[in-house]
Amino acid sequence: MQQSSDIALTQLVEGNPVATIVIDANHRVTHWNRACAALTGVPAAEMIGRSEQWRAFYDSARPLLADLVVDGVAEAAIDHYYHGKFSRSALGEDSYEAEDFFPAFGDGGRWLFFTAAALRNAKGEVVGAIETLQDVTERWRAESALRNKEVYLAQIVDGSPVPTMVIGAQHRVTHWNRACEALTGMLAKDVIGTDDHWKSFYGTKRPLLADLIIDQTGEKSIDRLYHGRFRASSLIPGAYEAEDFFPHVGEGGRWLFFTAAPLRNAEGEVIGAIETLQDVSGRRRAEEALRDSEERYRLLSQTDSLTGLYNSRHLQEQLPAEIGRVRRYARPLALLVLDCDRFKSVNDRYGHLGGDRVLQNLAHSITQCLRSSDVAFRYGGEEFVVMLPETDAPSALAIAERLRLLFGSLKTVAPSGEAVQCTVSIGVAVCRPEDEEWSLIRRADEACYRAKQGGRNRVVLADSGS
Ligand code: GH3
Ligand code: MG
Ligand code: MG
Repeated sequence: MQQSSDIALTQLVEGNPVATIVIDANHRVTHWNRACAALTGVPAAEMIGRSEQWRAFYDSARPLLADLVVDGVAEAAIDHYYHGKFSRSALGEDSYEAEDFFPAFGDGGRWLFFTAAALRNAKGEVVGAIETLQDVTERWRAESALRNKEVYLAQIVDGSPVPTMVIGAQHRVTHWNRACEALTGMLAKDVIGTDDHWKSFYGTKRPLLADLIIDQTGEKSIDRLYHGRFRASSLIPGAYEAEDFFPHVGEGGRWLFFTAAPLRNAEGEVIGAIETLQDVSGRRRAEEALRDSEERYRLLSQTDSLTGLYNSRHLQEQLPAEIGRVRRYARPLALLVLDCDRFKSVNDRYGHLGGDRVLQNLAHSITQCLRSSDVAFRYGGEEFVVMLPETDAPSALAIAERLRLLFGSLKTVAPSGEAVQCTVSIGVAVCRPEDEEWSLIRRADEACYRAKQGGRNRVVLADSGS
């Protein structure tokens, strides 16, 4: 006759949806419930009363976890059979749990989670053990699919040639790919798990664009840190992009174009941010070089190579604007036309090179007499024009006179070593409201011609009669 406690145990075991085995102190199977029969495919009748429980799980005889518990073996002995796959259970002193793969079960094998605990009598003696087995294959498959997905994702990030970092909701770095290592010189192993990503970009701690995306502090706070240098991405909703110079990156700094986008969970909550960085220093340098060369070309196209003054093309560009100002604001403007006296004979006596030196000296004299707003042009061979904004006739005459005297007293050394002295005739015209650019030049030119007529080496004011 069975004792009532045995009957209770039997009912408990049989009715339990969890596969359960009970063995006695002699390792004989006393219970093998329906769930266990379903899991192992071995009916209770084949097991109960025998000690061949291993047959349901293994190809050769060996103890189950319950057998080891009944024997009260040391953990080291358990480790021999369940190396690295078992742990002491939270249930009690002599109870253990383990997880293992059983290739013979089901379709392609099963992952089982099993626990074994000692059964004791009133005196505390071990009289058996109970083992439960749970099929956790589905959980394992889901976990492994997730692990695979994570590995897959990490490979995508890592294999990308674009420097990429991912940070989690707590601003800790989760991904830092090889391209990011190459760009920043900071290794993934040193930065992953930390919130030190700023160190690659700034001298003091501050948020990156990705950090601002996670905090969702809005455009105002982005603007505070990336003033006028960021914009919402046209490609990715919720993402921002910016371009900036980073003096701490690389040698001598780098221009980086960076995009940060939120990462959301299925509920749409932001759980991280991904930031990609592109080194656009090359493009920036090319743009700067282009700007420089454009500027050089522009200057070159306006400059006379012999004297370094502006050329006549630039006069054509500048004079209309100056005359426009005269008209709009009724401001004065004077114009000088200078022509070297008897320059042919200078060339004849001292050679063309000697003549060139004289012209260079005249240009030098002109610049010496000019004020900052005045502009000088080499108009033709040995003719020059000077534009004097905000200058009336008496002032213009005074400047012209000073220039005439300065140049007249100057000695140029010819290639032969001889000293050359030359003079200049200057016509002065003051702009009238009805003047066009050609009429203003013509009047100054006529005044210059009159200076020649009057004996050269002199200054004549247009329309003055003198
Ligand atoms: P005038 O006093 O009437 O002006 O006499 P001029 O000899 O200067 O006569 P004109 O203005 O007609 O001649 C200018 C000369 O300047 C002619 C040309 O040989 C010379 N010339 C023009 N351009 C250059 C230049 O770039 N270098 C040199 N050395 N001579 C030049
Ligand atoms: Mg001339
Ligand atoms: Mg001349």
